[in-house]
Amino acid sequence: MQDCIFCKIVRGEIPSRKVYEDEEFLAFHDLRPQAPVHFLVVPKKHIANLMELGPEDGALVGRLVYKAQGLAKELGCAEKGARFVFNCKDDGGQTVDHVHLHVLGGRALSWPPG
Ligand code: AMP
Ligand code: ZN
Repeated sequence: MQDCIFCKIVRGEIPSRKVYEDEEFLAFHDLRPQAPVHFLVVPKKHIANLMELGPEDGALVGRLVYKAQGLAKELGCAEKGARFVFNCKDDGGQTVDHVHLHVLGGRALSWPPG
């Protein structure tokens, strides 16, 4: 998708602090971290938001979550855990229209969200 900032990051047109990359996914540190560990995992395929997932995307998202879990462990969150969040559309607080999983860890997070 031409104007999507996460597609631009995937294509290397916008720099990012990369955590992981393979043929399906890119993980990079969030520009404005909300916790000591805060990175995003995105599919390289452009999907605008979670409401747009099709039946063919289920396995992809499963692999994305599993990859995020492994990276969270590598970044020190295995013992105390982390928060894994998909914001979706306006009420979900989504600001970038390309599916991304936030992983936040390294401190205790409150609940419920505001
Ligand atoms: P959301 O509000 O769930 O759509 O989250 C979008 C996230 O992307 C925010 O936490 C931003 O800080 C982050 N973000 C926006 N632009 C960039 C960028 N160029 N590099 C890394 N993270 C970014
Ligand atoms: Zn995109």
